[in-house]
Amino acid sequence: MPKILIVGGGYAGFYTAWKLEKHLRRGEAEVVVVDPLPYMTYLPFLPEVASGNIEPRHAVVSLRRHLKRTRVINARVTNIDHANKTATISPEGGEDWQYDYDQIVVTAGSVSRTFPIAGIADNAIGLKSIEEAVAARDTLVRNFERAASLPVGSELRKRLLTVIVVGGGFAGIETLGELRSAANALLGQFPDISYDETQFHLIEAMGRIMPEVSLPTSEKVLKDLAQRGAHVHLDTQVADATDGVVKTNTGEEYPSGLIIWTAGVMANPKVVNGSDLPREQRGRITTQADLRVVDAEGNLVEGAW
Ligand SMILES: Cc1cc2nc3c(=O)[nH]c(=O)nc-3n(C[C@H](O)[C@H](O)[C@H](O)COP(=O)(O)OP(=O)(O)OC[C@H]3O[C@@H](n4cnc5c(N)ncnc54)[C@H](O)[C@@H]3O)c2cc1C
Repeated sequence: MPKILIVGGGYAGFYTAWKLEKHLRRGEAEVVVVDPLPYMTYLPFLPEVASGNIEPRHAVVSLRRHLKRTRVINARVTNIDHANKTATISPEGGEDWQYDYDQIVVTAGSVSRTFPIAGIADNAIGLKSIEEAVAARDTLVRNFERAASLPVGSELRKRLLTVIVVGGGFAGIETLGELRSAANALLGQFPDISYDETQFHLIEAMGRIMPEVSLPTSEKVLKDLAQRGAHVHLDTQVADATDGVVKTNTGEEYPSGLIIWTAGVMANPKVVNGSDLPREQRGRITTQADLRVVDAEGNLVEGAW
């Protein structure tokens, strides 16, 4: 029986396995999904999870519950030797082993792209996993609790009530809007905290937000956010975030109790670099429109998707 290996059970990997289950006759192929997580995460819901509008368990899909005829392996793929059609499977705490395949589908997604900015790795939360979204919400609620018992105007109280989002793409803007709404709802439970004390800032390096939509639409969003008390700083970059104090290249300084980093993603470097599949300058595996892998000259790489 031919073997189909799917690397990553996220959005693309889960759907590939699910559709293959529908199309393949019994015994036609063995389908294997390898992922260190036992669930697919529906990333578009993460901003709503961060604000508490959606429960975390409603934004994830159990692989084993939904993939009845697929073999699910809870591990990482750490090497792909496509020349010999074999992949290295690394289970947590166990020995690596090899899986020989006929077809490979590489859907290991992307990771947060961080720049070498001091303090970001230590103090900012990304928004690529359910755990990060839950951590953002927990931090917001905890900061309100702590701030409420501190004197009005104190430095720590101001810091705890200041939220910074870095990156004005869809993820950042949605997260800013959702957290602003969550804070408004929390204010109802914290009569000691006033609306004016809660500060929300989004920092974006470009001169506009959400490049995927038209300029008039993005300007409408900016206006709406301003009315809701969320400040967007365009043409501004984070220069430093040491000890949670966000300093910008325009000279502003914001001590913050919650920093969210949504300033872009890059192809999963561990999976891509650990493979012999062709990739372009930005580290993405090269494919043609039907998602079959091709080399730089456009020649098909057989058995790779
Ligand atoms: C906050 C946010 C909001 C978004 N909103 C939208 C939206 O509204 N509309 C839209 O179209 N898109 C949206 N997106 C983008 C969309 O979610 C992604 O394009 C989509 O999830 C990509 O699917 P994927 O399968 O490539 O990667 P993912 O869904 O990220 O899946 C990758 C999988 O690979 C696994 N993996 C990682 N390393 C390994 C390894 N070594 N071995 C095996 N498995 C591994 C991971 O655990 C994960 O399960 C949003 C993204 C974010 C972050």
